[in-house]
Amino acid sequence: MKIAIIGAGFGGMAAAYDLRKAGHEVTVFEADATPGGLAAGFKEPGWDWSVEKFYHHWFTSDQHMFRLFRELGVQDKVLVLSPKTVMFYREKFYPFDSIPSAILYPGLGYGINKVRFGLVGLYLKMTTNWQPMEKTTVAEWMRKYAGAKVYREMWEPMVIGKFSEKYAGQVNMAWMWARLHARTTKLATYQGGFQAFVDEFAAKVSALGVNFTYNTRVNLIEKQTDGSLALRHESGSETFDRVLVTISPAQLARMAPQLPPEYLKGLLDLKSMGAVVMVIALKQQLSREGYYWYNLPKTAGFPFLALVEHTNFLPPERFGGDHLVYCGDYLEPSHEYFQLSKEELLERFLPSFKRINPNFSPDWVKKSWMTRTSYAQPVPLVNHSKNIPEIETPVQGLYFASMSQVYPWDRGTNFAVEIARRASRMILSEPDA
Ligand SMILES: Cc1cc2nc3c(=O)[nH]c(=O)nc-3n(C[C@H](O)[C@H](O)[C@H](O)COP(=O)(O)OP(=O)(O)OC[C@H]3O[C@@H](n4cnc5c(N)ncnc54)[C@H](O)[C@@H]3O)c2cc1C
Repeated sequence: MKIAIIGAGFGGMAAAYDLRKAGHEVTVFEADATPGGLAAGFKEPGWDWSVEKFYHHWFTSDQHMFRLFRELGVQDKVLVLSPKTVMFYREKFYPFDSIPSAILYPGLGYGINKVRFGLVGLYLKMTTNWQPMEKTTVAEWMRKYAGAKVYREMWEPMVIGKFSEKYAGQVNMAWMWARLHARTTKLATYQGGFQAFVDEFAAKVSALGVNFTYNTRVNLIEKQTDGSLALRHESGSETFDRVLVTISPAQLARMAPQLPPEYLKGLLDLKSMGAVVMVIALKQQLSREGYYWYNLPKTAGFPFLALVEHTNFLPPERFGGDHLVYCGDYLEPSHEYFQLSKEELLERFLPSFKRINPNFSPDWVKKSWMTRTSYAQPVPLVNHSKNIPEIETPVQGLYFASMSQVYPWDRGTNFAVEIARRASRMILSEPDA
């Protein structure tokens, strides 16, 4: 079969790998000049490693990624590290990445709330029965089982941070279960950075005979009378037997207007958040304690949700001695941060660095980069499983595997690979494949 894949992110590349290995003729269309999608990185001339445009790491539980590493024979290039994560409480930062540190965290006091927090955490880590949890919100479930204080102090800031005030009260508990159930405190990265893996993966997939067509934005998919699917892109039009789309639901709805109204409505009803992230290269280390990840509740008044000092995860020597700090937030695309220039955003962000390190001075800044995307984080509302669009769309031969269909797990490269490989198996299991 002649198969087109739209998008050269982790999902698109994983599908291309499987479909080509099964003997099909595969072309990947990518709007950008390089592969990697949301997990792509960039590298300055003096750096040995690339850095991700949006902060990225793997959890050691990311089994689909680790399986792929083994299949590609690159598992030796995966580094597992234990960087320090901290929580904010009353102008101080407290480690929060082990049971002893959670016990010492003062935000919940030392009485019944801490016990409830611990027991609920343990239950969520152990149970696999998530389905009933999607019928209720994080707010309802946590207030009931962990208590109002634990919800207010621990979980509400997280859901507001990730989904904004608008959706925080509507996010379902299965999403929270999946996060707590699957995540590990040990984090992994790739020797050379995520982009080094992406480049190696793309090279291996190309070597198998997959054709990558970069700088090519697909605009339209149309079913032809002979049953084939015509793709229209900036440089022309081509027909394929099967098409797998790995982009956002809203984009698919625009791209494939022949999809039946009910499927289109399902795509357009899905909610998601955008993201705005700055990478700032400093002359000096920002976190004097060597903390990697700062969780910052919106109520603390920081102009971003997370501050991540990448060079407390990996040594600055990999980046020519630069100390790299991410400032990031999940926001609706209508948020003013999507309109501000990089300089304006930097002006908003920098004053808060003094709350991390009182000695910070703006002249530590060497360079900065800003990346924004309107599609960064799907919002799983109550009973989300009933709203997930089918991978096999009603247009015969057209398949869809996106972050919005990853569930109950929180989206990530691991699940992009899983869902794309699942879509490939569906294509391959068709009677005429
Ligand atoms: C701030 C942030 C932090 C994250 N942190 C992590 C993390 O720590 N660990 C982790 O594993 N994951 C993380 N993720 C999630 C991870 O990046 C995604 O889940 C994953 O990259 C999605 O892969 P994908 O292939 O499904 O989609 P994408 O990466 O979005 O790939 C889709 C591709 O399609 C291309 N495209 C779009 N439209 C068209 C078109 N019309 N024609 C042709 N091509 C098109 C895009 O350019 C893109 O390359 C993070 C994401 C964000 C935003």
